[in-house]
Amino acid sequence: MTATRVLVLNSGSSSVKYQLLDMRDSSRLAVGLVERIGEETSRLKHTPLATGGGPRETTGPIADHEAALKAVAEELTKDGLGLDSPELAAIGHRVVHGGKSFTEPTVIDDTVLAEIERLIPVAPLHNPANLTGIRTARALRPDLPQVAVFDTAFHTTMPESAARYAIDVKTADEHRIRRYGFHGTSHAYVSRETARLLGRAPEDVNVIVLHLGNGASASAVQGGRCVDTSMGLTPLEGLVMGTRSGDMDPAVIFHLMRVGGMSTDEIDTLLNKKSGLIGLCGDNDMREIRRRVEDGDEQAQLAFDIYIHRLKKYIGAYYAVLGRVDAIAFTAGVGENAAPVREAAVAGLEALGLAVDGDLNAVRSGEPRLISPEGARVAVAVVPTDEELEIANQTYALVGNGNA
Ligand code: ADP
Repeated sequence: MTATRVLVLNSGSSSVKYQLLDMRDSSRLAVGLVERIGEETSRLKHTPLATGGGPRETTGPIADHEAALKAVAEELTKDGLGLDSPELAAIGHRVVHGGKSFTEPTVIDDTVLAEIERLIPVAPLHNPANLTGIRTARALRPDLPQVAVFDTAFHTTMPESAARYAIDVKTADEHRIRRYGFHGTSHAYVSRETARLLGRAPEDVNVIVLHLGNGASASAVQGGRCVDTSMGLTPLEGLVMGTRSGDMDPAVIFHLMRVGGMSTDEIDTLLNKKSGLIGLCGDNDMREIRRRVEDGDEQAQLAFDIYIHRLKKYIGAYYAVLGRVDAIAFTAGVGENAAPVREAAVAGLEALGLAVDGDLNAVRSGEPRLISPEGARVAVAVVPTDEELEIANQTYALVGNGNA
């Protein structure tokens, strides 16, 4: 029997998201998530799409990632999709930080695990959880190929001029301080899908990808290769996000320490969890912010304006970095759904060949689509991202059909 299934695992600090895909047609056989791992009220939600069954939910304590993955395996077994199935070809793991070393998806062995562990100081929140997920999955199926797909990999093609901060080189190298970028799986997928939408080869197309979710990042993709991206050493740099500040004068931090008397951890929390849209107006959901704007709420309007101003600056910057832009692609929760954000982001940029057609922009759809007027010099597109499919594809390309 040919093994054609790939399980994609995204292990966070207190959650595990998973999808089981059949790579013959990229269909989802099952999707689900375990939340609040380690609490009394852990929740597992499992949807067996293959059998057409509705979601099954269980609530109760799930102590750790091992217990979580075992619970997921049990749910899959109930649908005849268990981890022991000979049809399972591999497990693909999302790994947030691959540093400079991992430029490609990589079959996991002990050396790879050690390297992901070595990167913990630059990804203290994410890599430990990713590692726990990998270790647990390997213990459950030691014989099965497992692949790490890194959020940073797509950005490793950035030239040094974009990847380095202008700080003392020795200090930077000693502490591995450079711009790594994140959301790479999404930027890779969306830039390729945008080329497909235009009916052109990725090598021939220059795209600015705007991944606007709760976390948000922009990238400049030249002929399929990333040449700049807005997140840096950590996901804090760049655009205004749901709860992160994005770019600011680093001296704000010294000021908060010296004058505000704040600790490093307090400032970390302030900038990562209490800033961005939520810090500006108390809401980080763009739907709620738009509702408030429609009601004439000035605080929400200002938050929206700051968000758009930053977005526009990155569009302009990446236009200059690329020299020639064929398309701008909006993706993720805000990018795919918030027509007012797309409209405002390109408003006034007609001289750059950028415009949005009001009717096309208002269409709601899950399909990749153009929203620029016919004959526009630069295509403006909405391209839904699919990070799980991209992870599954990369995993299967590496190990499917006995390639491992
Ligand atoms: P992440 O993966 O970063 O958690 P998503 O890509 O799922 O985030 O995006 C989540 C965000 O998308 C929400 O916080 C909300 O601001 C926004 N969003 C989702 N649906 C809509 C919508 N219909 N209109 C406007 N914004 C939306």
